[in-house]
Amino acid sequence: MEYRRLGKSGLLVSELSFGSWVTFGSQIEDNTAENLMKISYDNGINFFDNAEVYAHGQSEIVMGKILKKMGWDRSTYVVSSKVFWGGSLPNQKGLMRKHIVEACHSALKRLQTDYLDLFFCHRPDRHTPIEETVWTMHNLIQQGKILYWGSSEWTAQQITEAHMVARQYNLIGPTMEQPQYNMFTRKKMERDYLPIFNNMGLGSTIWSPLASGVLTGKYLDKIPEGSRLSNENLSFLKEKYLDDKEKVKQIQQIKKIADKLEMSMANLALSWCLKNPNVSTVILGASKKSQLEENLKSSELVSKLDDPIMEEINTILANKPIIPEF
Ligand code: NDP
Repeated sequence: MEYRRLGKSGLLVSELSFGSWVTFGSQIEDNTAENLMKISYDNGINFFDNAEVYAHGQSEIVMGKILKKMGWDRSTYVVSSKVFWGGSLPNQKGLMRKHIVEACHSALKRLQTDYLDLFFCHRPDRHTPIEETVWTMHNLIQQGKILYWGSSEWTAQQITEAHMVARQYNLIGPTMEQPQYNMFTRKKMERDYLPIFNNMGLGSTIWSPLASGVLTGKYLDKIPEGSRLSNENLSFLKEKYLDDKEKVKQIQQIKKIADKLEMSMANLALSWCLKNPNVSTVILGASKKSQLEENLKSSELVSKLDDPIMEEINTILANKPIIPEF
């Protein structure tokens, strides 16, 4: 396992990490979750991703129990939570001081830890002044309850504003962003954030590298029973990917490249994400041991994706963002 700095911070994160969305406390049994975390850790993964909203807090409870049971030295792993969707009543949702502080305290309890290494604002909150959010995150760092804070799915302008506010008041600004990044979703990572990567040293912990499993090619024939796209609560994923004939055609074409390189499509898609040097860590998701074991091989296969192969992939996808010259 290779380790990358989280942006310009000193923190080292494994280039492949492991997240619990959809799976922990919901799709999979707790003993499967335990097995997956153990395989991850034994293979050098040191970052586990979570959020208050995942399975309404149950995902953090499951992860907390596993971390306690495993007894891994606290210095050997990084664990995150995210704040935004805490509940439906006033002040249970958003980035106001009250919810951020309460969400942090609740996540610490559920994860059974004294501090969160990473704490993300899960989405931007246009109703709360950015000053309030930045001050609150800074105070949580000063109180030792979190070590680094960041955003998820913020625009480049919102992240820049947070940096400006931090600079204005001598506060600790955001260290990392958690955007979706995969072959189908590229614009933020490859264009919008470039100035913040270059000028502010932003780190990135990217999500859905396999576009929820679609980029494994597993949906080309049918929707396998029990798979994510068979979940009716997530029907938007099926609409987004499988009902789009162009995307299905692209997956078929990319599958041919994977076959030519004698690697699985999952490995190709994950290695493709790892090729981007602005990616600090690729967060894996898995519902089965076999998936995780396969995905873990991706680090060693990055070198198969040379420039001509990357060009071939770009030609198929036809979505490489154009970077303005000025
Ligand atoms: P992926 O796009 O990699 O999807 C993971 C899913 O794909 C698995 O649960 C499994 O689903 C399927 N899969 C994975 N590997 C294979 C394989 N080798 N062969 C076949 N199927 C496979 O990542 P996620 O969407 O799960 O995102 C990763 C993490 O990112 C999350 O756990 C979470 O921590 C974070 N995240 C953050 C978000 C944010 O807003 N900040 C949003 C979403 C995720 P199945 O077996 O059910 O088909």
